[in-house]
Amino acid sequence: MTRIERLRNALATERGLLIETAVSRQYLTEFASSDGLLLITPTRAVLAMDSRYLEAASAAVTDAEVVPYDKAFFELVKQCKELLCEYTLSYAQVASLAKQTIPAELIPSRELSDAVSQMRAVKDAKELARIEAAQELTDAAFVHIQDHLRVGVTERQIALELEFFMRKNGAQSAAFDTIALTGAHGSMPHGVPDDRPIQNGDLVTMDFGARLDGYCSDMTRTVAVGTPDAQALEIYDVVLAAQTAALSVIRAGVDCKAVDEAARAVIRDAGYGDYFGHATGHGVGLEVHEAPGLSPRSTAVLQEGNVVTVEPGIYLPQKMGVRIEDFVFVTQNGCKNLTHSQKERKKA
Ligand code: ZN
Ligand code: ZN
Repeated sequence: MTRIERLRNALATERGLLIETAVSRQYLTEFASSDGLLLITPTRAVLAMDSRYLEAASAAVTDAEVVPYDKAFFELVKQCKELLCEYTLSYAQVASLAKQTIPAELIPSRELSDAVSQMRAVKDAKELARIEAAQELTDAAFVHIQDHLRVGVTERQIALELEFFMRKNGAQSAAFDTIALTGAHGSMPHGVPDDRPIQNGDLVTMDFGARLDGYCSDMTRTVAVGTPDAQALEIYDVVLAAQTAALSVIRAGVDCKAVDEAARAVIRDAGYGDYFGHATGHGVGLEVHEAPGLSPRSTAVLQEGNVVTVEPGIYLPQKMGVRIEDFVFVTQNGCKNLTHSQKERKKA
């Protein structure tokens, strides 16, 4: 069954579906474009595109008819009495769609958005292979960067070198803005790299990923340059223990918030509960942040096929930060860790 047919079945509606969001169109048709409209009726799936994409889409898309934005397409749209559009569209997007689809009634639908996000959260074998390839490249970038980490090298240079390596070796782009933070700057979980140079004894936190064949990877490692102080070693060991604890409870059927709690409890018990503010993890796929989230407020349950990060951290203001992030494929009995970079520290 195609993804479009599965979506139609999941929603069990006779109404038309109008998909506008780029990532949803990409998921349902397996064709990436910045512009397009996918109309799904009970009997047809039609992808309308402008001239920039028509030729490539006609050759690549197999699960929908590819047509230009023309009168015939909008006639087909208008034949639907009611049309569901995605709940996540902006007010301006809905208003502009409504103008084009009169006389059909256009209904922003949370069910539609949720159904696509639910489908995207469970990866098939082809998606998993792409995610693994993206991570393989990211692991290689981590090996590469270790030769560049020394006193005097700036955060911006580290971030650029990571991105350059990934691009040079096949990535379409970085999956998100690369984070490279040194010393006290590392206390900001999502700080922006600047001209700060590595100093002796600094912890360096690097959070980076590649986008390859549309799919993202996401990993974080914190390493020491020179000799770190005792507290740096202490919080590193706590974060690694928290991450190990969370990884060990992951399997299909477990509450996402229980995974978060497994990591959080270790950090709290070590006395650093106030210094771990963000969620333990998130789904990764076509987007670097997608369902399901692993947070204390999450109501989702892990399913076989989810790909989620596990990334606890401790951030001591004006002092230092540590975060360790792997991502895993959830199975019936546990999980397969897709991140192979070293994280156990070399004991002195
Ligand atoms: Zn990350
Ligand atoms: Zn992440």
